[in-house]
Amino acid sequence: MIAPSSSRPRVLLVEDEESFVDALTIGLDREGFDVVVARDGQEAVALFNSDVYDVILLDLMLPKMSGLDVCRVIRASSDVPIIVVSAKGEEVDAVVMLEIGADDYVTKPYRLRELIARIRAVLRRRDHVAVPEAAEHVFESGPVRLEVDTRRCYVGGAEIKLRKKEFALLELLLTNTGRVMTRDHLIDRVWGSDYVGDTKTLDVHIKRLRTLVEKKPKEPVHITTVRGVGYRFDA
Ligand code: CA
Repeated sequence: MIAPSSSRPRVLLVEDEESFVDALTIGLDREGFDVVVARDGQEAVALFNSDVYDVILLDLMLPKMSGLDVCRVIRASSDVPIIVVSAKGEEVDAVVMLEIGADDYVTKPYRLRELIARIRAVLRRRDHVAVPEAAEHVFESGPVRLEVDTRRCYVGGAEIKLRKKEFALLELLLTNTGRVMTRDHLIDRVWGSDYVGDTKTLDVHIKRLRTLVEKKPKEPVHITTVRGVGYRFDA
């Protein structure tokens, strides 16, 4: 469940790399956070002084004023949680982090999930902040339920074990229920566009999925063949 916008924790994202800004803005919003972006150290301090934030995500290498200095300035007046983000190769000294008052740090490249777990952890230590629950990426169609975050699959309520490619293939078909997926598209998305192996691999995976999903694998009603084109998932 995502908290209503009025109670969404506010994140001050201090980051000058566009790719990170874009990915984090979208990712954090989806996970229930409001995001305000500062693109250099001075802007970070100015934004911090003019509004209230629940957590600061602070890149170290910034234009105009370094992340370390930003951290010191904010700490001089506030105990807001600060998570420092360092680039690969930058020496992040845990002792220095503690000295300047950072609560935690991560090193690029990191996984969004890992970062969000750390944000939740520092927020949980502040009991006045309502921590949004993890967004569940769950898809259901017909008898199948896929829990993407935990990579679990249930058919008719019973858990079945899928290999990585099988899960990816079923996820792609199921999230496009009712739509024909061409063979090329399925192979591109599951095995990569540079896949040069036998295209029968796809049929082998489909066959195995049918034995797990279908009541009568030889007369499939969910994973159907669209002759000459590809496959379609039907609820
Ligand atoms: Ca940077």
